[in-house]
Amino acid sequence: MKNQTIKNLTIIKPQWLLPVDNAFQLLTETALLIEQDKIISLTPFAQLEDLAGFAEAHIIELPGQLLMPGLVNTHTHAAMSLLRGIADDRPLMDWLQNYIWPAENQWVDRQFIEDGVRLAVAEMMRGGTTCFNDMYFFPDVMAKTCQQMGMRAVSGLIVLDFPTVWAQNADEYLGKAMTVFDEIREMPLISAALAPHAPYTVSDQPLEKIAIYSSELDIPVHMHIHETQFEVDEAVKNTGLRPLERLDQLNLLTPNLIAVHMTSVNDLERERLAETGVHIVHCPESNLKLASGLCQVDQFHKLDINVCLGTDGAASNNDLDMFGEMRTAALLCKGLSGDASACNTEQSIRMATINGAKALGLAEQIGSLEVGKQADCIAIDFSGLNTQPIYDPISQLVYATNSLQVSNVWINGERKLADGEFIDFDTVEIIERAQQWMKKISGEKVSKKV
Ligand SMILES: [Zn+2]
Repeated sequence: MKNQTIKNLTIIKPQWLLPVDNAFQLLTETALLIEQDKIISLTPFAQLEDLAGFAEAHIIELPGQLLMPGLVNTHTHAAMSLLRGIADDRPLMDWLQNYIWPAENQWVDRQFIEDGVRLAVAEMMRGGTTCFNDMYFFPDVMAKTCQQMGMRAVSGLIVLDFPTVWAQNADEYLGKAMTVFDEIREMPLISAALAPHAPYTVSDQPLEKIAIYSSELDIPVHMHIHETQFEVDEAVKNTGLRPLERLDQLNLLTPNLIAVHMTSVNDLERERLAETGVHIVHCPESNLKLASGLCQVDQFHKLDINVCLGTDGAASNNDLDMFGEMRTAALLCKGLSGDASACNTEQSIRMATINGAKALGLAEQIGSLEVGKQADCIAIDFSGLNTQPIYDPISQLVYATNSLQVSNVWINGERKLADGEFIDFDTVEIIERAQQWMKKISGEKVSKKV
């Protein structure tokens, strides 16, 4: 490296550096070097002055801070942030059928998506999330908004059987999915996934097509599966098959499948999931809040199944805080398994970073701080009362850090948050827009006496 010229070199010098690579070692006295959008080196402080380009480099000192890969939120519905708190303390089907679906039919349009996604992206970035996997209406607007804000995202091309604000029937959803897929190709921060909502909302014919498209285009299929015992029981009653069995018959159990929730899974199904390389997204807080059931993460870990984490939408969580999600997942896993060593700190941090990148087909680009990857990284400031003293920085990350301790965020080499302040957008305007929506939506609720 000594002899080559490095342009636009940024050198980040944290107190601790956790690359989340295979070795999973915490480094000290080591800097992360970024050229343009890519990580080009992890270099000991002592060797920095020998670098070509050192004199012109932008050097960022982060004493008392830990640098790690940005968090990957592997399941959410970003624009639903505008419905945060609209219907709490209700089970999934009551919440969906009597509150969320009617509100969506009445209010969701392109402007709702843009304003909701802006609110969600700002919240996620502030809390250290640098990539998220979405499923919602108007995925084209979501993609454009994320690209404009500099947020990495996977836009879920939603498919349902029934009419909504986005399409009238499965064929129209699929047609629009392919149009949006082509538009997204031009956006460097955005990739696409096919997103059939759930086994109970999408019939066999569109699912067969989705299996073919996913295999031909080699893109993920993002789907809620086995979210509740009720879903499984109803499917058995109506079709004679458990949903996973049906999806297997439709050739959907492949390494492209991102199966969200998976609270009710038997031993045979677990083995089949391991055999076929399906990824699981655990959304502990949404599952707990809707009393949907609990995902047995330790059972998946025992079979080396890739488990990642998602917040789900803010209407059922009610925040998009991946540090909170990571801690809840670790604690829940221990409580459920009766084993305090289950979901240890390394497994928990992997679930919130590299495992998500693997599920999204982005593990070559993001999820860890390794040479050649895109520079998506975050710094956490441990100087607060709640993270002192520091025996073990990794333990602090999982069991003590709150998301407001995220001090700095880079996405694709671009600094988005510096010392806790956004660099290139104004949250006042984002919050004002959210409040306008709240007034509109709650005004309507009051007049209709819902
Ligand atoms: Zn969801």
